Parts: sequence; structure tokens; C-alpha cells
Amino acid sequence: MEVAYNPYENMLQVLELAAHKLGLDPDEYENIKYPERELKVSIPIRMDNGRKKIFEGYRVQHSSCRGPCKGGIRYHPEVDIDEVKALAAWMTFKCAVVNIPYGGAKGAVKVDPSQLSKSELERLTRRFTAAIIPIIGPEKDIPAPDVNTNAEVMGWIMDTYSMLHGYAIPGVVTGKPLDIGGSLGRPEATGRGVSIITQEMLKYLGMPEKDVRIAIQGMGNVGGISAKLLHEQGHKIVAVSDVSGGIYKGDGLDIPAVREYIARNGTLAGYAPDGGRKITNDELIECDCEVLIPCALQNQITDANAEAVRARLIIEGANGPTAVEADEILNKKGVIISPDILSNAGGVVVSYFEWVQNIQELTWDEDQINATLKKIMVNSFAQVLDIVQKSNVTFRVAAYMLAVSKLVKAQNTRGLFP
Ligand code: NAD
Repeated sequence: MEVAYNPYENMLQVLELAAHKLGLDPDEYENIKYPERELKVSIPIRMDNGRKKIFEGYRVQHSSCRGPCKGGIRYHPEVDIDEVKALAAWMTFKCAVVNIPYGGAKGAVKVDPSQLSKSELERLTRRFTAAIIPIIGPEKDIPAPDVNTNAEVMGWIMDTYSMLHGYAIPGVVTGKPLDIGGSLGRPEATGRGVSIITQEMLKYLGMPEKDVRIAIQGMGNVGGISAKLLHEQGHKIVAVSDVSGGIYKGDGLDIPAVREYIARNGTLAGYAPDGGRKITNDELIECDCEVLIPCALQNQITDANAEAVRARLIIEGANGPTAVEADEILNKKGVIISPDILSNAGGVVVSYFEWVQNIQELTWDEDQINATLKKIMVNSFAQVLDIVQKSNVTFRVAAYMLAVSKLVKAQNTRGLFP
């Protein structure tokens, strides 16, 4: 019988490996295996047809040891508590890898937002916000966008939280629209971080810094911006996809045209450039390219397709796109993987800048934001690479080692209450 994929189990396996490499006593990291708090809420909303419908939502706070919890909110029909728990833990590790003073959290609503009208989506968001209000706040837990949520949704969260407190509290959420305290550079931040890590990896591997053939799964916030920036840096984006499927063009796609098509139609379906051919999302994972950048969902590279991956380098833009079994196969094949907790950390770094601007009531210019982001990403890459070389481990295990050592140090410094 096939064992169902469990992202939380996936996370625990890598955590154990990293703790073992660090020579930690189980006592020192046992609590990192458990989220601090899990909240499950029911969200009744009035549908446009006058009927009431109940949705299920979650907010999981994995750790507040190094600072307030931080993590996105995902709207997806198949989301479950184990996925949210794993995503929350990855946020803790990610914030530690890039050394920003946050812990990790994640939230989700089990819903297919494409089936809701805009006003239903707004009521859902506002009611979900009200349901998790006891545990969120600028000093406690700060949500952000994730799959199927965006700046507009973050604006509704900010407004709901502020109305229920009686004054404007922009620092409760990041990824907001600019005119209510959002930050310049935040919409592009995750993709910008992905492109910075891609360039650092290419340099490290002695691969050309231009004209490399890249395949990108997912053309939403992360994939779309990664494609744009890597294309601008002179690479050939040979394949892209979204939930409707993908397109392959060996001599490179016209990325501005692809993005314009998606912006106009809301989907890649029907896009047919000269010389391009339709592919499925499975074919994209196995397509002829040097770099594969999964930017959609978790568990896309599995033991079923890892052997067929042709890329030499994988940059994880999505959270958890590679299953543990696939990791082993890819490592044996010599494929280098930049793990999610390093490569997609640009989003939370600029979210942190947004929050800092909100609580200090000032604004940074975009050059300052992008330059500081680059410095942090390049430094974090160098620190992970140093562990790779000194401890002879993969980039994933090295990134976990960096994160876990920081967490354990912070825990030891704080001591165990009471
Ligand atoms: P998004 O909703 O903007 O885009 C998701 C993209 O994936 C869309 O193009 C969608 O069509 C596609 N997709 C959905 N299901 C798919 C499937 N089954 N197969 C192929 N494609 C599919 O979401 P996003 O914000 O770009 O997030 C993408 C990934 O990056 C997620 O794993 C998310 O957790 C992670 N991430 C996002 C951020 C951020 O700042 N938005 C930060 C760090 C990590």
C-alpha cells in the first residue's frame, strides 16, 4: 500500500538528520519537533445566494523562541493540519537561516477561492481574521500572503484587525498594499531572493552566469517574478507552468509576453507561442534544462519522478517541493538542491523590513530594501555553503543545521520556563 505523503514527517526526518550531525542530545531539540500552538477554527460565511457555508481554518505557531511568529496564509481546497504544521516549522527554520528575529507560523483555510465571488472571499477573510485574532498581532504573530492570497487579502486582514482594536495597526500583517503600509519590493521579494540564490549557486558550481536553461513550475507570485528576473539576467527560461499545465520552448520563452498573457487571462491555458509545445506539470519536472525551479506546491518531486529529473541544479522556490525519498535519489545522482528554507527566504526578509517600517512609522526606499535583501541572501548562502564544505552534507541538511543550532542556542539562553 502506498504511504500517504506527510510534509510534517518529511520535516521531522531532515530535522533528526541535522540534529544528529550537530551532535545534539535529544533533550536539546525535542521541543522543536512540536508546534507551540495549533488553532483550528470554523468560519461561517453568508454566500451570495443567501445560504450559510462553513469553512475550516487553521493557524499554527511553531516557535516564538527567537521572536514573534511569522508566516503566510494559504487558501487551498486540499490543505490539512499536517501541511500547515510543516509550513509553520519551515518558517521557524527559514527565519533562523537568514537570521531575522522571528519564529515561525502558518495559516490556511480549506477553500478553493476560484469558486468564491470577491465579496465572499472578503467575508471569508474577515471572519477568519476575527477567529484567529486572539493569537495574532504585531508582537505575537504576523501573517503574510501565500498560495492563493495576495496584497488585497492582506489589506482586508489589516482592516479587520484594526477595526476590532479601534485604530490602524499596519504591523499586524505584511505583504499589504503600499497605500496602507505595505513595503516597496515586497511583491518581488521571494522571486528576487530565488534569483539571487540561483546566481550564487551557478557561481559556486562553476556554471555560466548567463544563458543557462531554466524550467519553472508555477507562475504565481514566486514563479512569475523568478522567471522575470532570471530572464532579465540573460537566462533562457525554457519551460513554465501553472495549475492548468505548461509550455516548453527549447530556445527560451518570451517571459514578458508569458506574464502579460497570464495577467490578462488569469491562466497560462491557451498560450501557444511559435516553436513552443504544451507539456504537463509532470513533464516539466523531467524536461531538458540545467536548472529546475519548483514554485508551486509541496511534494512535486517524488520517488516516482526524481530519477527522471535532468536538471543539474534545483532551486526550491516553493515550500517542500521535494519529498525526502526524492532527495535521496537526487543526491545520489549528484543533483544539487538549494532548499526552500534558504532559497525562498527573500519573502520573509522583506516582510520583516515591512514590519520594521510599520512599527517605526517610517519608510525605506526600494534601493535600500533590495540592497539589504541581497546582502542577507548572499551572506546566508555563504554560511550554508561553509557548513556544506566543513561537514560534508547536502545544502538542505546544512541549512537545517544552521537553523537548528541558532534555535537551540536561543532556547538555552532563554532557559526553560518555569
Ligand atoms: P501563488 O498562488 O501566487 O502561485 C502559485 C502558482 O502555482 C500558480 O501559478 C498556480 O497556478 C500554480 N499551481 C497551483 N497548483 C499547482 C499544481 N498542482 N501544479 C502546478 N502548478 C500549480 O503562490 P505563491 O505565493 O507564488 O507560492 C508558491 C509557493 O511558494 C508555495 O509553496 C509557497 O508556500 C511558497 N512561498 C511563497 C512566498 C511568497 O512570498 N508568496 C514566500 C515563500 C515561499
